[in-house]
Amino acid sequence: MLIGHGYDAHRFYSPETAGNRTLVLGGVRIEHAVGLIAHSDGDVLVHALCDALLGAAGLGDIGAHFPDNDAQYAGIDSRVLLRRVVQELHREGLRPHNADMSLVAQQPRLAPHIAMMRKCLAADLNLDIRRVNVKATTTERMGFTGRAEGIAAHAVVLLEE
Ligand code: MG
Repeated sequence: MLIGHGYDAHRFYSPETAGNRTLVLGGVRIEHAVGLIAHSDGDVLVHALCDALLGAAGLGDIGAHFPDNDAQYAGIDSRVLLRRVVQELHREGLRPHNADMSLVAQQPRLAPHIAMMRKCLAADLNLDIRRVNVKATTTERMGFTGRAEGIAAHAVVLLEE
């Protein structure tokens, strides 16, 4: 078994410049006043998960594999990146065993979307949904997440050879 950890945070657009950006978390599109600033679709949960997977495999991080100054990744669906990471693991003789993740957000309320996130991520990881856990918490209005300046995500995974 190999353990990996990932963390990511993205800033919300200011409401004036939000445009029609959609909030995408764990592959789920969520209606919200503002989206997250990012080169990709801003899926902070998938980014943390990718980093945990790459970390467990000793393969660096998501920024090294998919540079945010590379035009081919502009606006990309982060689940495409996740599936590429899983393929890379397969080439190394590794596969995910389970994943546990935490989203940290003051808003929006994420509980109604957790089940669909787990379904999306389990599909990309080729895992039973019981092996893919997603939790959400606020920080009681403390810190940057508490002030709703952005959303953070933590992920830990186990890989098996
Ligand atoms: Mg990111």
